Amino acid sequence: MKVSVLLPAAGLGTRIGQGPKAFLRVGGKSLLEWALEAFAWADEVVVALPPGAELALPAKTVPGGPTRQQSVFNLLQAASCSLVLVHDVARPFVVPEAVRRLMEAVQKTGAAALAVPVPDTLVQEEAGRYGATIPREHYRLVQTPQGFNRELLWQAHLRARAEGREYTDDAQLVQAMGHPVALVEGDRRMFKVTYPEDLLLAEGMARVWSC
Ligand code: C5P
Repeated sequence: MKVSVLLPAAGLGTRIGQGPKAFLRVGGKSLLEWALEAFAWADEVVVALPPGAELALPAKTVPGGPTRQQSVFNLLQAASCSLVLVHDVARPFVVPEAVRRLMEAVQKTGAAALAVPVPDTLVQEEAGRYGATIPREHYRLVQTPQGFNRELLWQAHLRARAEGREYTDDAQLVQAMGHPVALVEGDRRMFKVTYPEDLLLAEGMARVWSC
């Protein structure tokens, strides 16, 4: 089955405050370059770029939207393969073994997402106080890539748009349509660069990365 990899890379990186996240450099490469290298095997790669960014890339490009969901919608319109993997460029370290597990699940079920257990105690914050603890063994932290039958994800996006709903990832859209999404074991090395200190972690990881 042919695979399109969709890379939403149009975020403005406001929590880090150093310009669009896709262009932040780690280990001598931009986050976007890390993702492009990780998915060089795909039949097609499409990147949603921040407004105004024009780059010569070894991939198709589309303009990003004001939200992640809109950026993925634009990417889907340009995708031509029957299976799509959506991956946030904010996760530069892509573990091939995890992607293999994901692809296997998508081929069986049509929709799958990577996720990892919650390592810390999970607690409700109640006006600055320690509130009720939440049984962490029942929760997972969701990662990307997430994989879908292209038509299924397209229908999920059309429905979310019609209902005016905005989600933070694609698995939620598909689940909201009533289609089950398989949870597949992810990998903690695939963390998301979100806060300034994550850049330090990423620099350290880049030094030892050999996947
Ligand atoms: O902001 P957050 O870290 O959740 O963004 C996840 C991914 O979605 C990032 O790779 C970011 O570049 C992308 N994004 C996008 N278009 C937006 C907002 C975020 O492509 N408008």
